[in-house]
Amino acid sequence: MALLEVTDLVKKFPIRKGFFNRVAGHVHAVNGVSLSIEPGEKLGLVGESGCGKSTLGKTIVRLWDPTSGSIQFDDKELADLTMGEMKPHRSDLQIIFQDPYGSLNPKMTIYDILREPLELHGLAAKGRDALRKQIGDLLETCGLPAGAIDKYPHEFSGGQRQRIGVARAVATNPKLIVADEPVSALDVSVQAQILNLLDDLRDDKNVAFLFISHDLKVVHHFCDRIMVMYLGSIVESFPSDNLYEDAKHPYTKALLSAIPPDDPFQKVERQLLEGDVPSPINLPSGCCFHTRCPFASEECKKEVPQLKAVSDVQQVACHFVNEDGSFTPPEQ
Ligand code: SF4
Repeated sequence: MALLEVTDLVKKFPIRKGFFNRVAGHVHAVNGVSLSIEPGEKLGLVGESGCGKSTLGKTIVRLWDPTSGSIQFDDKELADLTMGEMKPHRSDLQIIFQDPYGSLNPKMTIYDILREPLELHGLAAKGRDALRKQIGDLLETCGLPAGAIDKYPHEFSGGQRQRIGVARAVATNPKLIVADEPVSALDVSVQAQILNLLDDLRDDKNVAFLFISHDLKVVHHFCDRIMVMYLGSIVESFPSDNLYEDAKHPYTKALLSAIPPDDPFQKVERQLLEGDVPSPINLPSGCCFHTRCPFASEECKKEVPQLKAVSDVQQVACHFVNEDGSFTPPEQ
Protein backbone atom coordinates (compact mmCIF):
# COMPACT_ATOMS: atom_id res chain seq x y z
CA MET A 1 0.00 0.00 0.00
CA ALA A 2 1.23 3.51 -0.81
CA LEU A 3 2.66 5.59 2.03
CA LEU A 4 1.48 8.81 0.38
CA GLU A 5 -1.46 9.09 -2.02
CA VAL A 6 -2.15 12.59 -3.31
CA THR A 7 -5.28 12.98 -5.44
CA ASP A 8 -6.26 15.97 -7.54
CA LEU A 9 -4.42 18.46 -5.29
CA VAL A 10 -5.03 22.13 -6.07
CA LYS A 11 -3.31 25.13 -4.47
CA LYS A 12 -4.29 28.66 -5.48
CA PHE A 13 -3.09 31.87 -3.85
CA PRO A 14 -5.55 34.78 -3.96
CA ILE A 15 -4.36 38.14 -5.32
CA ARG A 16 -5.96 40.94 -3.32
CA LYS A 17 -6.28 44.50 -4.56
CA GLY A 18 -7.87 47.82 -3.68
CA PHE A 19 -9.08 49.52 -0.54
CA PHE A 20 -11.40 46.63 0.39
CA ASN A 21 -8.71 44.02 -0.25
CA ARG A 22 -10.98 42.24 -2.73
CA VAL A 23 -9.80 39.07 -4.47
CA ALA A 24 -8.84 40.18 -7.98
CA GLY A 25 -7.46 36.88 -9.25
CA HIS A 26 -5.47 33.82 -8.28
CA VAL A 27 -1.98 32.41 -8.71
CA HIS A 28 -2.67 28.86 -9.91
CA ALA A 29 0.38 27.21 -8.35
CA VAL A 30 -0.75 23.53 -8.29
CA ASN A 31 -3.47 22.38 -10.67
CA GLY A 32 -4.90 18.97 -9.89
CA VAL A 33 -1.78 16.92 -9.15
CA SER A 34 -2.07 13.22 -8.29
CA LEU A 35 0.90 11.11 -7.18
CA SER A 36 1.77 8.23 -4.88
CA ILE A 37 4.93 7.22 -3.03
CA GLU A 38 5.66 3.75 -1.63
CA PRO A 39 7.56 3.26 1.67
CA GLY A 40 11.28 3.74 1.00
CA GLU A 41 10.71 5.05 -2.52
CA LYS A 42 12.58 8.06 -3.92
CA LEU A 43 10.25 10.04 -6.18
CA GLY A 44 11.80 12.96 -8.07
CA LEU A 45 9.78 16.04 -9.00
CA VAL A 46 11.48 18.13 -11.67
CA GLY A 47 10.67 21.31 -13.56
CA GLU A 48 11.84 24.88 -14.13
CA SER A 49 11.75 27.54 -11.42
CA GLY A 50 8.22 28.76 -10.77
CA CYS A 51 6.51 25.58 -12.02
CA GLY A 52 4.87 24.95 -8.63
CA LYS A 53 6.98 22.05 -7.42
CA SER A 54 8.04 23.68 -4.12
CA THR A 55 4.44 24.77 -3.50
CA LEU A 56 3.32 21.18 -4.07
CA GLY A 57 5.91 19.89 -1.56
CA LYS A 58 4.98 22.48 1.06
CA THR A 59 1.27 21.78 0.59
CA ILE A 60 1.83 18.03 1.01
CA VAL A 61 3.59 18.59 4.37
CA ARG A 62 0.79 21.07 5.20
CA LEU A 63 2.96 24.16 5.60
CA TRP A 64 0.22 25.54 3.36
CA ASP A 65 -3.45 24.61 3.28
CA PRO A 66 -4.56 22.94 0.04
CA THR A 67 -7.37 24.67 -1.90
CA SER A 68 -8.88 21.25 -2.70
CA GLY A 69 -7.88 17.62 -3.16
CA SER A 70 -6.81 14.76 -0.96
CA ILE A 71 -3.52 13.97 0.86
CA GLN A 72 -3.68 10.41 2.24
CA PHE A 73 -0.57 9.77 4.33
CA ASP A 74 -0.07 6.49 6.14
CA ASP A 75 -3.79 5.79 5.70
CA LYS A 76 -4.91 9.12 7.20
CA GLU A 77 -6.43 12.10 5.39
CA LEU A 78 -4.31 15.19 6.07
CA ALA A 79 -5.87 17.69 3.66
CA ASP A 80 -8.64 18.85 6.02
CA LEU A 81 -6.68 18.93 9.28
CA THR A 82 -6.05 22.18 11.11
CA MET A 83 -2.47 23.14 11.96
CA GLY A 84 -3.11 21.92 15.53
CA GLU A 85 -4.52 18.59 14.32
CA MET A 86 -1.44 18.17 12.07
CA LYS A 87 0.97 18.24 15.02
CA PRO A 88 0.93 14.46 15.80
CA HIS A 89 1.70 13.71 12.12
CA ARG A 90 4.63 16.12 11.77
CA SER A 91 7.16 13.66 13.21
CA ASP A 92 6.43 11.24 10.34
CA LEU A 93 6.42 13.89 7.61
CA GLN A 94 9.46 16.18 7.49
CA ILE A 95 10.97 18.69 5.06
CA ILE A 96 14.52 19.72 4.12
CA PHE A 97 14.84 23.22 2.69
CA GLN A 98 17.06 24.48 -0.12
CA ASP A 99 18.89 27.19 1.83
CA PRO A 100 20.80 25.42 4.59
CA TYR A 101 21.79 28.72 6.23
CA GLY A 102 18.46 30.53 6.04
CA SER A 103 16.61 27.53 7.47
CA LEU A 104 18.74 27.38 10.66
CA ASN A 105 18.33 29.94 13.45
CA PRO A 106 21.76 31.66 13.65
CA LYS A 107 21.30 32.40 17.36
CA MET A 108 20.80 28.76 18.36
CA THR A 109 23.51 26.17 18.90
CA ILE A 110 23.27 22.87 17.04
CA TYR A 111 22.26 21.28 20.36
CA ASP A 112 19.25 23.60 20.64
CA ILE A 113 18.34 23.28 16.93
CA LEU A 114 18.17 19.48 17.21
CA ARG A 115 16.72 19.41 20.75
CA GLU A 116 13.64 21.34 19.61
CA PRO A 117 12.02 18.70 17.31
CA LEU A 118 12.95 15.88 19.69
CA GLU A 119 11.24 17.59 22.63
CA LEU A 120 8.29 18.78 20.55
CA HIS A 121 7.44 15.20 19.60
CA GLY A 122 8.26 13.64 22.98
CA LEU A 123 11.29 11.79 21.58
CA ALA A 124 14.04 13.47 23.64
CA ALA A 125 16.11 11.28 25.98
CA LYS A 126 15.61 12.05 29.67
CA GLY A 127 18.39 14.01 31.34
CA ARG A 128 20.85 16.47 29.81
CA ASP A 129 23.73 13.98 29.38
CA ALA A 130 21.51 11.41 27.70
CA LEU A 131 20.02 14.08 25.41
CA ARG A 132 23.50 15.37 24.46
CA LYS A 133 24.50 11.78 23.63
CA GLN A 134 21.30 11.32 21.55
CA ILE A 135 22.03 14.52 19.59
CA GLY A 136 25.73 13.65 19.22
CA ASP A 137 24.77 10.25 17.77
CA LEU A 138 22.35 11.98 15.38
CA LEU A 139 25.12 14.30 14.18
CA GLU A 140 27.44 11.33 13.62
CA THR A 141 24.72 9.52 11.64
CA CYS A 142 24.67 12.58 9.38
CA GLY A 143 28.46 12.69 8.99
CA LEU A 144 29.23 15.45 11.49
CA PRO A 145 31.44 15.12 14.60
CA ALA A 146 29.50 14.79 17.86
CA GLY A 147 31.80 17.53 19.21
CA ALA A 148 30.10 20.06 16.91
CA ILE A 149 27.08 20.09 19.22
CA ASP A 150 27.83 23.46 20.88
CA LYS A 151 28.69 25.36 17.70
CA TYR A 152 26.50 27.87 15.84
CA PRO A 153 25.38 27.49 12.19
CA HIS A 154 27.81 30.19 10.92
CA GLU A 155 30.75 28.03 12.05
CA PHE A 156 29.94 25.40 9.41
CA SER A 157 30.40 25.18 5.63
CA GLY A 158 27.36 25.07 3.31
CA GLY A 159 27.53 21.27 3.01
CA GLN A 160 27.84 20.84 6.78
CA ARG A 161 24.87 23.15 7.33
CA GLN A 162 22.80 21.02 4.97
CA ARG A 163 23.86 17.96 7.00
CA ILE A 164 22.47 19.75 10.06
CA GLY A 165 19.23 20.36 8.10
CA VAL A 166 19.13 16.63 7.29
CA ALA A 167 19.82 15.76 10.95
CA ARG A 168 16.91 17.98 12.01
CA ALA A 169 14.62 16.26 9.49
CA VAL A 170 15.58 12.71 10.52
CA ALA A 171 15.61 13.43 14.27
CA THR A 172 11.98 12.32 14.59
CA ASN A 173 12.43 9.11 12.51
CA PRO A 174 10.10 10.26 9.70
CA LYS A 175 8.53 7.93 7.15
CA LEU A 176 8.64 10.56 4.39
CA ILE A 177 10.95 13.52 3.77
CA VAL A 178 10.12 16.22 1.25
CA ALA A 179 13.57 17.41 0.14
CA ASP A 180 13.05 20.80 -1.54
CA GLU A 181 16.10 21.52 -3.75
CA PRO A 182 18.36 20.13 -0.99
CA VAL A 183 21.60 20.32 -3.02
CA SER A 184 20.98 23.28 -5.36
CA ALA A 185 22.97 25.73 -3.23
CA LEU A 186 25.97 23.39 -2.91
CA ASP A 187 29.16 22.68 -4.91
CA VAL A 188 29.04 19.59 -7.09
CA SER A 189 31.41 17.58 -4.83
CA VAL A 190 29.34 18.47 -1.73
CA GLN A 191 26.12 17.64 -3.63
CA ALA A 192 27.36 14.06 -4.04
CA GLN A 193 28.08 13.77 -0.30
CA ILE A 194 24.58 14.95 0.65
CA LEU A 195 22.94 12.65 -1.91
CA ASN A 196 24.96 9.71 -0.55
CA LEU A 197 23.84 10.65 2.97
CA LEU A 198 20.16 10.68 1.90
CA ASP A 199 20.69 7.33 0.14
CA ASP A 200 22.17 5.83 3.32
CA LEU A 201 19.18 7.07 5.33
CA ARG A 202 16.82 5.43 2.88
CA ASP A 203 18.75 2.16 3.13
CA ASP A 204 19.05 2.23 6.94
CA LYS A 205 15.65 3.60 7.93
CA ASN A 206 13.49 2.95 4.83
CA VAL A 207 12.66 6.67 4.62
CA ALA A 208 10.75 7.66 1.45
CA PHE A 209 11.64 10.88 -0.37
CA LEU A 210 9.81 13.40 -2.49
CA PHE A 211 12.94 14.93 -4.01
CA ILE A 212 12.28 18.30 -5.62
CA SER A 213 14.82 19.78 -8.05
CA HIS A 214 15.15 21.83 -11.22
CA ASP A 215 18.13 19.63 -12.17
CA LEU A 216 17.04 16.57 -14.16
CA LYS A 217 20.53 15.06 -13.96
CA VAL A 218 20.51 15.10 -10.13
CA VAL A 219 16.97 13.68 -10.03
CA HIS A 220 17.96 10.94 -12.47
CA HIS A 221 20.98 10.06 -10.32
CA PHE A 222 19.09 9.96 -7.01
CA CYS A 223 15.50 8.90 -7.69
CA ASP A 224 13.70 5.66 -8.54
CA ARG A 225 10.93 7.45 -10.41
CA ILE A 226 10.60 10.90 -12.00
CA MET A 227 7.59 13.20 -12.36
CA VAL A 228 7.96 16.23 -14.63
CA MET A 229 5.94 19.31 -13.69
CA TYR A 230 5.05 22.30 -15.85
CA LEU A 231 2.90 25.23 -14.72
CA GLY A 232 1.41 23.35 -11.80
CA SER A 233 0.56 20.14 -13.71
CA ILE A 234 2.33 16.80 -14.09
CA VAL A 235 3.14 16.28 -17.79
CA GLU A 236 5.09 13.01 -17.56
CA SER A 237 5.85 10.28 -15.04
CA PHE A 238 8.27 7.38 -15.56
CA PRO A 239 11.00 5.23 -13.91
CA SER A 240 14.38 6.93 -13.95
CA ASP A 241 16.37 3.92 -15.30
CA ASN A 242 16.17 4.77 -19.00
CA LEU A 243 15.68 8.50 -18.81
CA TYR A 244 17.17 9.32 -22.20
CA GLU A 245 15.34 6.53 -24.06
CA ASP A 246 12.02 6.71 -22.22
CA ALA A 247 11.25 10.45 -22.11
CA LYS A 248 8.30 11.13 -24.45
CA HIS A 249 6.86 14.55 -23.63
CA PRO A 250 8.28 17.48 -25.66
CA TYR A 251 8.93 19.40 -22.42
CA THR A 252 10.87 16.52 -20.81
CA LYS A 253 12.89 16.19 -24.03
CA ALA A 254 13.69 19.89 -23.96
CA LEU A 255 14.85 19.62 -20.32
CA LEU A 256 17.00 16.64 -21.33
CA SER A 257 18.61 18.40 -24.24
CA ALA A 258 19.63 21.26 -21.92
CA ILE A 259 21.83 18.89 -19.88
CA PRO A 260 25.48 19.46 -20.88
CA PRO A 261 27.13 16.23 -22.16
CA ASP A 262 29.81 14.58 -19.96
CA ASP A 263 32.28 14.99 -22.85
CA PRO A 264 32.60 18.75 -23.55
CA PHE A 265 33.64 18.03 -27.17
CA GLN A 266 30.62 15.82 -27.90
CA LYS A 267 28.24 17.45 -30.37
CA VAL A 268 24.63 17.31 -29.25
CA GLU A 269 21.48 18.46 -30.97
CA ARG A 270 19.75 20.86 -28.62
CA GLN A 271 16.02 21.50 -28.51
CA LEU A 272 16.14 24.79 -26.65
CA LEU A 273 13.01 26.15 -25.03
CA GLU A 274 12.03 29.58 -26.26
CA GLY A 275 10.42 32.22 -24.08
CA ASP A 276 9.64 32.17 -20.40
CA VAL A 277 7.22 30.04 -18.44
CA PRO A 278 3.81 31.81 -18.78
CA SER A 279 2.36 33.50 -15.71
CA PRO A 280 0.49 31.15 -13.37
CA ILE A 281 -2.04 33.99 -12.93
CA ASN A 282 -3.30 33.61 -16.51
CA LEU A 283 -2.77 29.99 -17.46
CA PRO A 284 -2.68 29.27 -21.22
CA SER A 285 -5.74 27.54 -22.64
CA GLY A 286 -5.53 23.87 -23.71
CA CYS A 287 -2.11 22.30 -23.19
CA CYS A 288 -0.27 24.58 -20.75
CA PHE A 289 2.97 23.99 -22.73
CA HIS A 290 1.55 25.10 -26.10
CA THR A 291 3.08 28.61 -25.96
CA ARG A 292 6.58 27.09 -26.04
CA CYS A 293 6.11 23.72 -27.72
CA PRO A 294 7.61 23.39 -31.24
CA PHE A 295 4.83 20.93 -32.17
CA ALA A 296 1.82 22.93 -30.91
CA SER A 297 -1.28 22.70 -33.12
CA GLU A 298 -4.73 24.29 -32.98
CA GLU A 299 -5.95 21.28 -30.96
CA CYS A 300 -3.22 21.94 -28.38
CA LYS A 301 -4.54 25.48 -27.85
CA LYS A 302 -8.08 24.23 -27.16
CA GLU A 303 -7.94 20.80 -25.54
CA VAL A 304 -6.20 19.99 -22.26
CA PRO A 305 -4.26 16.72 -22.76
CA GLN A 306 -4.90 14.20 -19.96
CA LEU A 307 -2.13 12.19 -18.35
CA LYS A 308 -2.50 8.79 -20.08
CA ALA A 309 -0.66 5.49 -19.65
CA VAL A 310 1.74 4.54 -22.44
CA SER A 311 3.01 1.52 -20.46
CA ASP A 312 2.51 -0.05 -17.03
CA VAL A 313 4.97 2.41 -15.52
CA GLN A 314 4.76 5.56 -17.63
CA GLN A 315 2.16 8.30 -18.16
CA VAL A 316 2.36 11.23 -20.58
CA ALA A 317 0.10 14.25 -21.11
CA CYS A 318 0.43 15.10 -24.81
CA HIS A 319 -2.14 14.82 -27.62
CA PHE A 320 0.43 13.38 -30.01
CA VAL A 321 2.04 10.70 -27.87
CA ASN A 322 0.29 7.46 -28.86
CA GLU A 323 -0.76 4.58 -26.61
CA ASP A 324 2.42 2.66 -27.50
CA GLY A 325 4.56 5.67 -26.51
CA SER A 326 5.46 6.70 -30.07
CA PHE A 327 5.16 10.38 -31.01
CA THR A 328 3.31 11.44 -34.16
CA PRO A 329 3.74 15.20 -34.59
CA PRO A 330 0.75 17.06 -36.04
CA GLU A 331 0.89 18.25 -39.64
CA GLN A 332 1.78 21.94 -39.54
FE1 SF4 B 1 3.13 20.16 -27.41
FE2 SF4 B 1 0.57 19.84 -28.09
FE3 SF4 B 1 1.87 17.86 -26.90
FE4 SF4 B 1 1.21 20.05 -25.55
S1 SF4 B 1 -0.22 18.57 -26.43
S2 SF4 B 1 3.13 19.01 -25.50
S3 SF4 B 1 1.50 21.63 -27.10
S4 SF4 B 1 2.31 18.71 -28.92
